[in-house]
Amino acid sequence: MLLPEKKSIRIGIMGGTFDPIHNGHLVTAEEALVQFELDKVFFVPTGYPPHKEERKSLDPVERYLMTVIATASNPHFEVSKIEIDRKGLSFTVDTVREFRKNYGAEAEIFFITGADAILEIIAWKNADKLAEMCKFIAATRPGYCLKKFEELHVLPYENKEPEPGKPKIYMMEIPALAISSTDIRKRVSHKYPIRYLVPEGVANYVLKRGFYR
Ligand code: ATP
Ligand code: MG
Repeated sequence: MLLPEKKSIRIGIMGGTFDPIHNGHLVTAEEALVQFELDKVFFVPTGYPPHKEERKSLDPVERYLMTVIATASNPHFEVSKIEIDRKGLSFTVDTVREFRKNYGAEAEIFFITGADAILEIIAWKNADKLAEMCKFIAATRPGYCLKKFEELHVLPYENKEPEPGKPKIYMMEIPALAISSTDIRKRVSHKYPIRYLVPEGVANYVLKRGFYR
């Protein structure tokens, strides 16, 4: 096991646009749950994302519903509406602060991301504050080059105290899954199948509502 003995509740937070949620997200969350002995993983769909203004994403409530459908059968998965209910732009640092308030200082909080997303996050304005409140699990994504981490001098944290002021990042190997929401949307618009790339309920809901056509 990667971590020292577990003394308190351990939760994972998986933020995302989830437009739509796909099996890459679910495998990542499940793998984090098991590898890091988490008690729960919260999926947190974004409200109106500050970083994705270039493309209008689906209505937050629809993205939330698909996330609920996708996670319904897993007793360790929950979906949080916190960013959807918040007025205005949502920032991850505020979300993690809210979880910290609910679970107390003792709780271990892990923010789960893909390796690409973690590099964006640590470049954000409030990254220092975020890194004080949680640790990170970075899932290595197919085709993603870990060299970028080395270039940025953000070395993965491996069961030893990281340098003061540096974020605690654990790398997590996940089974290769070259699935992205972008690709799912493209497939739907080209009338290609998305079955087996997203949960069945999500595929049905996308079809029923006529999303991404
Ligand atoms: P888009 O293509 O629209 O950017 P996405 O597939 O990257 O969508 P997001 O909702 O943007 O999905 O991502 C939420 C989180 O899931 C991010 O931390 C992202 O890095 C991670 N993620 C996305 N796809 C995968 C995958 N196939 N394997 C592991 N992590 C993934
Ligand atoms: Mg993405």
